[in-house]
Amino acid sequence: MQVFKFGGASVKDAEAVRNVAYIIQNFGTPTHLVVVVSAMGKTTNALEKLLHTYFSQADWQNELQNIQQYHWEIAQKLFPNNHIIFTALEYLFLQLKEALLHKTNPEKYDESYDQVICFGEIIATHIVSQYLQEQAIANEWIDIRNYIKTDTTWREGKVDFAWTEQLIRREILPILQEKIVVTQGFLGGTLGNKTTTLGREGSDYTASIIAYSLNAEKVTIWKDVPGILNADPKKVPQTQLYETLSYTEASEMTFYGANVIHPKTIKPLANKNIPLFVRSFLEPTQAGTCINGIASQQNLPTIIFKPNQVLLKFGVKDLAFITEENLAKILHTFTQVNAKINLMQSSAVSIWIVTDFQEHKILKIKDFLSEDFTIFQENHAQLLTILYYDEKTLKELLPQYHLILEQKTAQTFRAVVKEKS
Ligand code: ASP
Ligand code: MG
Repeated sequence: MQVFKFGGASVKDAEAVRNVAYIIQNFGTPTHLVVVVSAMGKTTNALEKLLHTYFSQADWQNELQNIQQYHWEIAQKLFPNNHIIFTALEYLFLQLKEALLHKTNPEKYDESYDQVICFGEIIATHIVSQYLQEQAIANEWIDIRNYIKTDTTWREGKVDFAWTEQLIRREILPILQEKIVVTQGFLGGTLGNKTTTLGREGSDYTASIIAYSLNAEKVTIWKDVPGILNADPKKVPQTQLYETLSYTEASEMTFYGANVIHPKTIKPLANKNIPLFVRSFLEPTQAGTCINGIASQQNLPTIIFKPNQVLLKFGVKDLAFITEENLAKILHTFTQVNAKINLMQSSAVSIWIVTDFQEHKILKIKDFLSEDFTIFQENHAQLLTILYYDEKTLKELLPQYHLILEQKTAQTFRAVVKEKS
């Protein structure tokens, strides 16, 4: 039993979809395989924009038309003219329009979001499933919202693992004896059968939830990179591939901001000791990276940037020192507004906290704390983490940035930096 996950880039056009079929045929199995698919290309962003345009009463029809056109053109390249997929697509886009008109409410933004954004995955999986069928890969399309059950935390659904496991085992396991299953990443459903989503880029997490429920032998995430690298090749010219990583190392990397896999992916797999492979859909014969219980021996200097950060400096007002009481107050506020602390540092009279740039949360934090502290805010910052740093890496990298704050332990270097303009 195994799970394959194909993200947006791996189904971004007709050629990519053909490649998915090729990978399933050559590296998959005819049964006992669940294929998890995300929305095609940048469709999720386009749907977000559609909803935003609809709520701001601008020309949303045009946005909708563009999304439809994009999928239609992919289908035209994959299917004969009279194929059933075209009727299906017409119906799905009608449903999307219906959702926009009748299932949204600007006052319930997050709930509305899930009811509309889900169409990216629903449409993508219909196209992929039908195309696999055309290629004589027997499969069943499944609506994952009926199996992955969450609470009503819109846009970040909390999964009920016990219930989900039971449903998946009862309903999906029997199908897998005969054929493969194609289903959506990123989506869940509530008790009342409303759609939830699991957080942006959440399809990796879906693969992990399904693998957990089926006690799968392994999960493979097919990506446009050769595996997990020690730096982003867009930022650092020379990168190296990790052959193996432990669950702990991988989840630490996601905490620091590595976006190769969704942060929630690791835990369910680690709990059942299911290995996770990250491999390239462009070079599928390559081994990629294997994440399992065994620590990497490579200790590569690993460079991770977390963008869109803001640095908040809290100073005590009356020239007193930072006390545990002050600290508790600040931490409590962050907990209350559900803002993540990505880095913290304190001195005698002030405390620095780096958090994601989410304006509404920052406004609330300032509102709650401005009575007791002077607050200084630095925007457009990035958090740089180097695991297993060495002098050479620091020397090459740091002169390219303005350094605002730095922290070092024996193995880990962390800094708040800004681009030099
Ligand atoms: N399509 C969703 C997103 O772009 C989920 C995913 O790609 O994993 O966030
Ligand atoms: Mg995506």
